Amino acid sequence: MESSSYNPYQVAQSQFDKVAAILELDEGVRELLRQPMREYHFTIPVRMDDGTIKVFKGFRVQHNDARGPAKGGIRFHPMETADTVRALSMWMTWKCSVVDIPLGGAKGGVICDPHHLSLREQELICRGWVRQVAKNVGPLSDVPAPDVMTNGQHMLWMLDEFETIHGGRFPGFITGKPVGMGGSLGRTEATGFGVIYVLREALKAKGIDIAKTTASVQGFGNVAQYAVQKYTELGGTVVAISCWDQADKTAYTFRKKSGIGLDELRGITDKFGGIDKSRACDLGYEVLPGDAWLEQDVDVLIPAALENQINGTNVQKIAKSVKVITEGANGPTTPEADEVIKQRRIFLLPDFLTNAGGVTCSYFEQVQCNTNYYWEKDEVLAKLDTKMTSAFAAVNDLAQRRKLYMRDAAYVIAINRVAEAVKLRGWA
Ligand code: NAD
Repeated sequence: MESSSYNPYQVAQSQFDKVAAILELDEGVRELLRQPMREYHFTIPVRMDDGTIKVFKGFRVQHNDARGPAKGGIRFHPMETADTVRALSMWMTWKCSVVDIPLGGAKGGVICDPHHLSLREQELICRGWVRQVAKNVGPLSDVPAPDVMTNGQHMLWMLDEFETIHGGRFPGFITGKPVGMGGSLGRTEATGFGVIYVLREALKAKGIDIAKTTASVQGFGNVAQYAVQKYTELGGTVVAISCWDQADKTAYTFRKKSGIGLDELRGITDKFGGIDKSRACDLGYEVLPGDAWLEQDVDVLIPAALENQINGTNVQKIAKSVKVITEGANGPTTPEADEVIKQRRIFLLPDFLTNAGGVTCSYFEQVQCNTNYYWEKDEVLAKLDTKMTSAFAAVNDLAQRRKLYMRDAAYVIAINRVAEAVKLRGWA
């Protein structure tokens, strides 16, 4: 899903190189960590509902598992590329490391568009994906999860295929499962809530009362909806939301200056996070161009849709009022835009710290599956809050002490931990 001229893998590698230099990492460690350890590229033949065979392309990339089993989601997207999956797998390694959970990084994907696939066809893609990598993934080696356009149902089909192949029950093979089928309470909310736990701490550190702030959000899928929910619970006001319109093949921004109504918008949103334009108009929303979310006079921007959304061509549109950008999506800011944000001294909360709530809760899900004892939702969310709060504190503390940009500070902590693990294992 390379939505600009930036190749996300090159971005991930250049971010890594910069921090490797700060850390003065050995050449061998650098070489090992700047690329994935293993990659699987395969075909998934599916008999479609019309009787024809369609061949889909699938990926699993394991970036690094020195700190524990590799972990990362599976995306279904028509524009998926091997390089996007490579970049995301690398970011997963840093993400698990920065929140200090004992997991490595991986990512998977299938080039397909679920908008145009029946449930039966989607099930066959899920089962086909598992058949191709069943010997290379598992609860002790590589644990998948949902991501863009995949959900608990997809995970359950994948689990069922894995258990059929291996014989037995292995609920720890995959996370993001439905509750009651090995899933953890709180997983659905975890990424979005985690984004706001980090934002809450950041605003506290800046001496800003969250209840007096306003925000503009890109995306209205899983991450964005729960981020908006937690943010409004804490008293913040969201004035604009941008999302993709599948019928018009473009994005729109929905604005209500007095504050959007989360429930009313949820009521007119499809399962892919697209808001019904005409019903939004009826509810009094202004419908603006897709990029307009970036130009709002707000305190906080929450990009929570896709990568490369704040880039060289639109970063100048960010309003002077913006004090904090909290990255809900993976890789939403290109390096060029990052430089501008840094120079403008906007407090940036980097993606792999901010959106680590999902993987942290996935880790809790695995722990629960492995012990076959399931926690109450409040317990899950309290543990999540503790993890996110302490991860923010460590990154912020290092950024203050060494006068580092927050993204660099988060990378220094994350890469250092993985480099240590690689060295302790004697790999480099
Ligand atoms: P999702 O599919 O549920 O939602 C994506 C949203 O983005 C939808 O509302 C869609 O309309 C919107 N969108 C797509 N293209 C857009 C565009 N050009 N302009 C405006 N809006 C656009 O996905 P999600 O699970 O919410 O994930 C969002 C991001 O967060 C992704 O980068 C994903 O990798 C990352 N992430 C997700 C999780 C998770 O637990 N779901 C965890 C960590 C990171």
